[in-house]
Amino acid sequence: MDKALIFNIQKFCVHDGPGIRTTVFFKGCPLHCLWCHNPESQAFAKQILWSQEKCSGCRQCEKICPQGAVTVADGIIRTDARQCRLCERCIDMCLNNVRELAGTEYTVTQLMAEIEKDRPFYDQSGGGVTLSGGEALSQIEFVAALTQACRERGIAVAVDTCGYAPFSSFERILDNVDMFLYDIKLMDAALHQQYIGQDNALILDNLRKLAQKKARIHLRLPLIAGINDDDGNIGAILKFVQDIRLEAVNLLPYHDIGKGKYAKLGLIYGQAPMAPPSAERLNEIKSMFEQANFKVKIGG
Ligand code: SF4
Ligand code: SF4
Repeated sequence: MDKALIFNIQKFCVHDGPGIRTTVFFKGCPLHCLWCHNPESQAFAKQILWSQEKCSGCRQCEKICPQGAVTVADGIIRTDARQCRLCERCIDMCLNNVRELAGTEYTVTQLMAEIEKDRPFYDQSGGGVTLSGGEALSQIEFVAALTQACRERGIAVAVDTCGYAPFSSFERILDNVDMFLYDIKLMDAALHQQYIGQDNALILDNLRKLAQKKARIHLRLPLIAGINDDDGNIGAILKFVQDIRLEAVNLLPYHDIGKGKYAKLGLIYGQAPMAPPSAERLNEIKSMFEQANFKVKIGG
């Protein structure tokens, strides 16, 4: 793969691994978590987002679209993704910047140039680059070349993964990756399928194998009240990881920062009630992991 589809490059990140980091968000994910705060990360193709509240209803986008993919009626814009050919004409001509494209193609050379710009911050802080998403391992050919380039230039790499990839993909990059930020959400396979859209067997199997390879692993546990913060799920996770060497456990309470993006994509947010666990419950969960001798932090 000569190019990767990236939807964001975020600078000066301090919650995606040690030190100051540049986080690269790969577009496309095999999972569909109900609480995903980056819904534009899920599709493996470019997408148009639009901010309805900025629209003046001038209908210029509707007129310029050669596919007839845009309609504006009663001040509401609709874009038919099945007809859109992503020519970007409607984006370029909208004076109110209502429309934006999610997804830009990068070569390894182009991405390394972006990553290299922040090298002084990595050097001063013990940071580096974090490959996130979406799921970076879904674009493994590119990620293998990118991590090799980082290794050759002495830039530390962390991979933030949902774990849903062939283990051979992990093996491809193992020598060039300094640490994995590895998400676990639900231990019950049926609930995992219901809330996340896939079975969890591959994810759990990969975590076990990765630990056997002595990879540095920070376990990340997004916590959503009433969905995965109960004693049954937490207890099952603790049982599963009791023999797995984890450098740290990060408890990530649910937030709805990405809620507005769903409307921008014409999607419905929150198909089940979602809320963060109470402070008291978070501390209880933290204590449960600490009692099992894990180093635990609330937050990334
Ligand atoms: S061109 Fe922009 S402001 Fe005009 S209708 Fe289209 S999205 Fe709205
Ligand atoms: S990107 Fe092109 S095809 Fe897609 S809605 Fe805009 S003008 Fe139409």
